[in-house]
Amino acid sequence: MTTTVTPSLSDRINSVTPSATLEMAAKARELRAAGKDIIGLSLGEPDFNTPDYIKEAAIQAINDDYNAYTPVDGYVELKDAIITKFKRDNGLQYERSQIVVSTGAKQSLYNVAQVILNKGDEVILPCPYWVSYSDIVKLADGVPVEVPTTLENDFKMTPEQLEAAITPKTRMLWYSSPCNPSGSIYSEEELRALADVLQKHPQIIVVSDEIYEHINYGVTAHASMASFEDMYDRTVTVNGVAKAFAMTGWRIGYIGAPTYIAKATTKLQGQVTSGANCIAQRAVITALNESPDRIQFMVDKFKERRKLILELLNNIDGFKCNEPEGAFYVYPDITSYFGKTLNGVTIGNASDFAMYLLEYANVATVTGDAFGNGNCIRISYAASEEEIVEALARIKKALQ
Ligand code: PMP
Ligand code: GLU
Repeated sequence: MTTTVTPSLSDRINSVTPSATLEMAAKARELRAAGKDIIGLSLGEPDFNTPDYIKEAAIQAINDDYNAYTPVDGYVELKDAIITKFKRDNGLQYERSQIVVSTGAKQSLYNVAQVILNKGDEVILPCPYWVSYSDIVKLADGVPVEVPTTLENDFKMTPEQLEAAITPKTRMLWYSSPCNPSGSIYSEEELRALADVLQKHPQIIVVSDEIYEHINYGVTAHASMASFEDMYDRTVTVNGVAKAFAMTGWRIGYIGAPTYIAKATTKLQGQVTSGANCIAQRAVITALNESPDRIQFMVDKFKERRKLILELLNNIDGFKCNEPEGAFYVYPDITSYFGKTLNGVTIGNASDFAMYLLEYANVATVTGDAFGNGNCIRISYAASEEEIVEALARIKKALQ
């Protein structure tokens, strides 16, 4: 007689939700393979190719035989390019010992959570937040503390809300500005007001995710928490090349951090990945050393598409939307559809709504629940004008 052993997985992985953005993209891919004409507005991925001057640097690196393990925390030349970038674009002064290069900003965030959090430590997440924050925190045994914001306040957390969310267990505050998914940008004054609250709570470390920094439509200037002298030693600035440089698949992100945090993440990375891909690192040296003016043409295009998608959305009943100041997402409130029945489908929540759009409009979006705000859906406009026009026409028709 054979005994059957039930395969089991760790409680850790069982407690994690799959990434909703990646899951929706996979679903769209699957439906396409099955012959359906799906327009994908779910993934935050530029539809541009990586610019030629960056690709050429990678080809050169292959021909120059860059093929060995790199230093765990990144090539010195790349760290220097990151130092140059931080100084040029953000007025931030870092030493090499404060920079760590990782396999995407996602890994940078994961590293920071792993080296800072102990079991039960709380991490404040203004909602909506980027989909992976809460699960990255949970993977480090931390407790996400969601702070709801409102469309009326442009989805930004106020100093009063921050103060009210802080407990003796609070260890970190995480936010992205420009924000994925809302596109909101904290001004320097707004960040200063949050920093003033944090002054009273020196145990709190800030993770400032600035990966959409360059995708800014010129209303509110980009500001970095670490540029305040009193916050510098307790802020981790996270950035990467995926978005602004159209390099999502190259997988390079980085941090500028207090040295003790940089050292700890390097130790972790040394046991996990041994460092980021050598060719991608060489290409990013060029990407960061060159002026951001070279990628401005993509930002200009995103700005045109933002205008287009907002006009089209305003033409559809029931979408309430702010004007995003950065990134390439709109995050409309769709609560007016809750309780309605369309084509025999009752819309109970944002997930039902996103699934309805997938099935009846053949357009992939992401439910707002994934970002900690179930009143909205996220629509990415990192797609061609033709796709945006067609997708919104289909959505309008499906909702009539
Ligand atoms: N932070 C935010 C706010 C993001 O939207 C993303 C998505 N790419 C990341 C971090 C992760 O970036 P990367 O692709 O470099 O891992
Ligand atoms: N950050 C992008 C998004 O929000 C890419 C997907 C992901 O990394 O989860 O869609």
